[in-house]
Amino acid sequence: MAPSDSNRRRLPSIDAMMQRTESLGIPRLIRKRLIQERIEQWRGSGSIPDESEIQTILDHDLKRFQRGRLQTVINATGIVLHTNLGRAPLPKDLADHLAASVLTYSNLEFDLDTGKRGKRGLNVEKSLAVLAKTEAATVVNNCAAALVLMLNTCRTESRNEIIVSRSELVQIGGGFRVPEILESAGVILKEVGTTNRTTLADYEKAIGQPTAMILKVHQSNFFMDGFVESPSAQTLAQLAEKNRIPFGFDLGSGALVDTKSSFNIDLEPTPASMATQGVHMVCFSGDKLMGGPQAGIIAGTNNWIGKLKSNPFFRALRADKLVLAALELTLNKHLEAHDDPESPSIPVLPAYELLGQSMDQLRSKAESIIQHAALPESILKMEETETEVGGGTMPRTRMPSVALTFHLPETKPEHIANFFRENDPPIIGYLRNNELHLNLRTVFPHQEADVVACINNAWTHFGNQTP
Ligand SMILES: *Cc1c(COP(=O)(O)O)cnc(C)c1O
Repeated sequence: MAPSDSNRRRLPSIDAMMQRTESLGIPRLIRKRLIQERIEQWRGSGSIPDESEIQTILDHDLKRFQRGRLQTVINATGIVLHTNLGRAPLPKDLADHLAASVLTYSNLEFDLDTGKRGKRGLNVEKSLAVLAKTEAATVVNNCAAALVLMLNTCRTESRNEIIVSRSELVQIGGGFRVPEILESAGVILKEVGTTNRTTLADYEKAIGQPTAMILKVHQSNFFMDGFVESPSAQTLAQLAEKNRIPFGFDLGSGALVDTKSSFNIDLEPTPASMATQGVHMVCFSGDKLMGGPQAGIIAGTNNWIGKLKSNPFFRALRADKLVLAALELTLNKHLEAHDDPESPSIPVLPAYELLGQSMDQLRSKAESIIQHAALPESILKMEETETEVGGGTMPRTRMPSVALTFHLPETKPEHIANFFRENDPPIIGYLRNNELHLNLRTVFPHQEADVVACINNAWTHFGNQTP
């Protein structure tokens, strides 16, 4: 239905709306665009809300934009590598490190010895190769890019089949499905075995003239139990060697620390353990259990890393200087922790600080918040609970944790959760048993005062209810 003239006239002028929203602190051009988009929508639909509704909707649009800026939130989900909340938190001294390395100009691709063009990321690559115990390593944007690069580099016109077990055609998080990634890399998937059992003979039978690579993918976010079998990486490496084909492993998380002895959780396979078994190339994420920035790391033999880096496609995936600087700092902390190889310590990185907390530490964090908030026990309570590592890793692992439950008898928990998300900084908890839970494993000590303040504000805001 076409909008009538009277409807048209009821729309306030853009100028008037611009003036009214000036105080919100949103750049003028953004305000104008958001207002225009909304007006277009009203005109198009032919239904124009009344004056006060117009104001409410526009205010809401603008505030939503404002809140969408990248900002610190308090992670009270207990999930340490929360993909939606940015995975691994980065070390505090990163700001100083960036200032000293890449804020102005840097030797990003400049060789200070020769005064000529140099290669990007050489130090980071060396550190990675040392930590992964491989001959060489390199960096791209993320692990998905690393996998695509590996596949694209192995394939040729006549060799374009990738052999993968049917148990490893997994989906990791939103938008990462192994079969689709393979397809997009222009290779043909040669599935072998069954969902639960794949044998060495299955792989052997599949190898032929068109084989470009044997690929293993870490199941990452699920596990199988019962009648299951798959050949070890070492067995497959021998098979690959015998047939002169490359063997790649997508490790996903790829911890550089021994997760079992460090944090008493499942043992995540390390790149070094795969290299020792003869895998030619392993790829893993920088921002999962490595505890650094988003990056895709590939470690392996000189031969294969060299091929990856000379693939023209590498240029499209190369890491940015900000990421390289953050990686350098992260890797330095890993290297420091390995200074005494006989007794490596835990790298001083925020993700490990969170994973390493004892139940006693978590309980005293809860007690301190409860004491400072000083609310009735029926409103704010401590609860022992569990949490996951997150980031699509360690599906079997449950870590003990401590949560606070905040409950107001006359307020819907959704409204309380919303109030906490509207806090500055936003606090992200979760609802369970009709109560807001704030899981403290992921709340840093310096954030406790903010949590206390928000709890007290909520108590005042919703009217001091006691049952
Ligand atoms: C997480 C994961 C990926 C994707 O890693 P990104 O760095 O997010 O691209 C790929 N493969 C596996 C096995 C994973 O666990």
